[in-house]
Amino acid sequence: MAREKPVKELEDLPGIGETTAEKLRAAGIDTIDKMATLAPHELSETYGLGLETAKKAVQAAKEATTINYTTGGAILERRQGLGKISTSSKELNELLGGGVETEAITESYGRFASGKTQLGFQITVNTMLPRDKGGLEGNVLFVDTEGTFRPERIETIAAAAGLDPKEALDRIIVVRATTTDQQILTIDRADKLIQEKNIKLIVVDSLMALFRSEFIGRGALGERQQKLNQHIHKLQTLADKFYLAVYITNQVMDNPGILFGDPTTPVGGNVLAHAATTRLYMKKSKEEKRIVRLVDSPAMPEGEAVIKITPNGIRD
Ligand code: ATP
Ligand code: MG
Repeated sequence: MAREKPVKELEDLPGIGETTAEKLRAAGIDTIDKMATLAPHELSETYGLGLETAKKAVQAAKEATTINYTTGGAILERRQGLGKISTSSKELNELLGGGVETEAITESYGRFASGKTQLGFQITVNTMLPRDKGGLEGNVLFVDTEGTFRPERIETIAAAAGLDPKEALDRIIVVRATTTDQQILTIDRADKLIQEKNIKLIVVDSLMALFRSEFIGRGALGERQQKLNQHIHKLQTLADKFYLAVYITNQVMDNPGILFGDPTTPVGGNVLAHAATTRLYMKKSKEEKRIVRLVDSPAMPEGEAVIKITPNGIRD
């Protein structure tokens, strides 16, 4: 069901074309909210717009910003209509309150072979399924920064989920990014692609690998975190704007500050810790078993689920 798209970009305002929008952005007026605070005559004089046009644009911006006033009841109603992508494990779905949520960023972190990529493949396939089968009837943008996307694996998992394997592959847009610039640009320019291809899930596997290899040492950390912050912010914006899910995988390090207990800590620092809506810590267990621990969620209690990585994908 297509929801009416609210005014979100400057270009959505009457009388504001691309050129004017660019000028406004360059002057720091980059949101509808900021537009709403402008005096029409100021706008008219500074940017050479007709006064009537300026009045209409500011008025439209004011009207659009009032959308932000909402009641708890309205949010509840909206959230009940939120999409959830099944993980194909009942236990893990329950831990997540139904599945991987749209309009949110879900992060999985863990050591190598803990199942982060496999879970990514599974929800990639499941996104294509009908809603009553745990899907979103949508397609997937898969940003592969480690070269670990495996079409053969997708085919097997898709066939097991009752989909045509070749069709399933055609419904995944894969971007192999080898620099952080490519990774960032892919997301920055994704708006059009998302709309044209009905993208309902964005996977970034892994989010941090390129950032870690490009920004080395203490001196580079500030810049890295700043870029990372913008990148994640853009992912969250896309999730909100297009009602889609974002799944990112993350690497770990041993935190020497933790003397007792498990020193395994996700990389990315506070920037990532605050940005991820839901965080999952994945751990290898016996044979094909993996323990998935919910470490951070806005609404669900902490807890664990045990899943299996089978030839057909994730299962209980
Ligand atoms: P990394 O940090 O190295 O990217 P990861 O957490 O992404 O690791 P995955 O690639 O998701 O790890 O998991 C790899 C594991 O998945 C393998 O060790 C194997 O146990 C399991 N696996 C992969 N392919 C299959 C398959 N076809 N059948 C069964 N299990 C598989
Ligand atoms: Mg992986």
